[in-house]
Amino acid sequence: MPVSQRRYAVDLEDTIAFPDITHVPIFSPHKERNWYILTEIVSDETVSRPTFRVEDKLAGNYRVVVFSTNDPVTYAKECKVGHMICIKNGLPKQFLDGRYGYEIENPWHILVHQVLRELNAELRKRSDDGLLLSCVVCNTPKENVGCSNCKTRYCSRECMKADWHSRHMQICNVLRALHKWNRMLWG
Ligand SMILES: [Zn+2]
Ligand SMILES: [Zn+2]
Repeated sequence: MPVSQRRYAVDLEDTIAFPDITHVPIFSPHKERNWYILTEIVSDETVSRPTFRVEDKLAGNYRVVVFSTNDPVTYAKECKVGHMICIKNGLPKQFLDGRYGYEIENPWHILVHQVLRELNAELRKRSDDGLLLSCVVCNTPKENVGCSNCKTRYCSRECMKADWHSRHMQICNVLRALHKWNRMLWG
């Protein structure tokens, strides 16, 4: 399969777009200038509000993520140990109990998924647009149909349907987010 020689623009190891603890900005973002904090859930510490102990990209650095949205339990339902929480424009804060971390007030600013890193690695093997050059199921080099949400391409409706049930249903929205980040100018 031919693979694009151009570099895929999303790189979760990038410290500006995906900052670790030492690179997280302390002020609100300028318009159109966002960052995404990637953390992995190490334990559920919920007492009243959903609260998770997370490990930063820099191994061994721990923070808490506290959900303060309306109906926080619903928004935190995907949060399980081992999953990753990605926080858009997270600003570090110290909570009243002295712990440091991030407070989630806008539910649209988080993305929780188990395999965010793996998906990113997968996308980097694709073209710059993040689109596979052949069907993701059978590798046939045709792109007749695709998922309207995340733009994954297939050779046929049969392959699209098979993928949806085996895997795609779980990763579609994460792929969509990665595609969106890919088109950003990180500056
Ligand atoms: Zn196919
Ligand atoms: Zn999709």
